[in-house]
Amino acid sequence: MAVNSYLIHGPDGIIVVDGQLTVSDALAVSSAVERSGRALAGVLITHPHPDHYAGAGLIAPPAVPVLATAAVADIIRRDDALKDTIVGPMMGEQWPTRRRLPDQIVEPGSPVSLAGLQLAVRDTGPGESHADSIWSIGSSWFIGDLLCPDLDAYLADGHYRAWLASLERLRHDAPADAVFHAGHGAPPAATASPRSVPTSRRSSARIPAVDRDGGPAAMPGREPWDYYGTERSTAPGWTNRVTRMSVRELLTFDAAIGADFLAGTPALFVHGRRDEFCSPGAADVIYQRAQTTDKEFLWLDTTNHIDLYDNPTYVDPAAARLSDWLAERL
Ligand SMILES: [Zn+2]
Repeated sequence: MAVNSYLIHGPDGIIVVDGQLTVSDALAVSSAVERSGRALAGVLITHPHPDHYAGAGLIAPPAVPVLATAAVADIIRRDDALKDTIVGPMMGEQWPTRRRLPDQIVEPGSPVSLAGLQLAVRDTGPGESHADSIWSIGSSWFIGDLLCPDLDAYLADGHYRAWLASLERLRHDAPADAVFHAGHGAPPAATASPRSVPTSRRSSARIPAVDRDGGPAAMPGREPWDYYGTERSTAPGWTNRVTRMSVRELLTFDAAIGADFLAGTPALFVHGRRDEFCSPGAADVIYQRAQTTDKEFLWLDTTNHIDLYDNPTYVDPAAARLSDWLAERL
């Protein structure tokens, strides 16, 4: 299973934490509940990502509540139709079509009784998702994806700062004997505890942005250095360092999906013929893919990528064409 669900055995039944993404994984959780021989008392949702709620309806029969804070439930309700159009086609038959949204809203901070157990839930606000929450029973803390040891972070929701602040709070607020149960990765016994919460400094470790000799840097080598490392790009406040995570954003950058957002929109493409950082071939693919009839490609005989940053031989004709192009259409 790519997503962790947890089964909590209480005196009066069993509680499941998080509802899985795929049909088969959700059914596997459901049969684990069945094998326990206990009645399911409820499914708790830690945060509004589909891999944590989409399968809840396959685990909880209609009479069994799906519990979440209002903040978590609101985002699920807001985004479910959109997730259906994005995740549905990706998952095919494995995407649960009968998805249950949380139907028992719990107040953060006030105790919840379920399966003969006393639970607590706290909202931690935007972080890994638009609304994270933590469920706890005694020293067992179900932290969703706030912290998944040894796994890449999911950054697409964009709350980097708030997330780091959440981790900082988690480090201070969780009791020393707390055991964290994360939404992905190895079971908790191994390492997850307040001690494993990275400090904000560690989780945003920095490396040089450029290095002339090709040493460790986000953009190693001579050409990036010639621009960012020299007076060509001097700017007050700039220092030669970026977060290590920036490299991942660079590696996973995919301009091609941008073409799909251009449908029907006039587009002017300006690109150098020689460019080792943004491939001219890829630019052409994007141009071909853009579903718009009003499109134009201006190729410039550049010698490298940074020519188009500040070299008037190339920037001037690019700016001139852009100016005319805008004047023709606005
Ligand atoms: Zn997740």
